[in-house]
Amino acid sequence: MKGAVLHGPYDVRLEQRDDPTIVEPTDAIIRLSATCVCGSDLWPYRGTDESVGAAPMGHEYVGIVEAVGPDVTTIRPGQFVIGSFFASDNTCEICRAGYQSSCIHRQLMGAIGTQAEYARIPLADGTLVATPDLPSDDLIPSFLAASDVLGTGWFGAVAAEVGPGTIVAVVGDGAVGLLGVLASRQLGAERIIVMSRHETRQQLAREFGATDIIEERGDDGVARIKDLTNGLGVHSVIEAVGTRESMLQAIGSVRPGGHVGYVGVTHGDLPGDQLFFSHAHLHGGPAPVRRFLPELIDLISARTIDPGNVFDLTLPLDQVAEGYRAMDERRAIKTLLTL
Ligand SMILES: [Zn+2]
Repeated sequence: MKGAVLHGPYDVRLEQRDDPTIVEPTDAIIRLSATCVCGSDLWPYRGTDESVGAAPMGHEYVGIVEAVGPDVTTIRPGQFVIGSFFASDNTCEICRAGYQSSCIHRQLMGAIGTQAEYARIPLADGTLVATPDLPSDDLIPSFLAASDVLGTGWFGAVAAEVGPGTIVAVVGDGAVGLLGVLASRQLGAERIIVMSRHETRQQLAREFGATDIIEERGDDGVARIKDLTNGLGVHSVIEAVGTRESMLQAIGSVRPGGHVGYVGVTHGDLPGDQLFFSHAHLHGGPAPVRRFLPELIDLISARTIDPGNVFDLTLPLDQVAEGYRAMDERRAIKTLLTL
């Protein structure tokens, strides 16, 4: 099969890789219908994280089940399935508490690499959720979004305790931040303030439900949010960037007693005194997307939400390198790769 491999900074290539096979009796093999490039793929792509040598890439996936191992009981060949970036058994205590991305048996799908024609899915019964029917082609981008960015934005909103009547700020106008806006509207937020300087992203944020856009950053951005909230700050902040600056902006924007849901991998230390005096609840981490998949699949199937709009560039898998370049240069919000 063909699959994307990262060889070093800014060097992604589509190459011949070994066809996946059933390794564990709980595995499934899927034929990808579509895959995509994640903002978090840009960390290794840019060489910001420690270099890993030649590494398969990709952790978002939807596709058709080709084969299952002998211990797989609920997932069947021919089903259209969606899974998350961690495989999980969905049965351990941690999973049952809703934290499947910390499953005691979790396996990182990024190590398998789903920017490829086929993929092995560990713990198939726990990891995968099948749609009731084979979806029409126009729904595939939305289901693919549920695999990571929608589920992550949704967790950001849930972790930030977004609900009816809340005022929400979203730090970050990437795919996760934008879908955090969609999630906030769906969860009943009264006002959704997005921090963005990019016109196309501002426009999409408004389509997804943003009520206010703030272009200022840092202390100026915090001051604008205070201006809009009688000096109090917002109830809920979704932090969807993952830098020290964005995290400080989130903590500065939330009111005492409010909630920050952080879903960007925070790169940088935070000052303890500022955390202490903020009186903020902080909750976040790698999103347990699996928790939300059944609900998100229902909302997408009913066409209540259309998160697939977050893909503003569609390329064949052959052009995966251009897909990375376009996102790295911020010419694209998110690249969908077709097979
Ligand atoms: Zn588990």
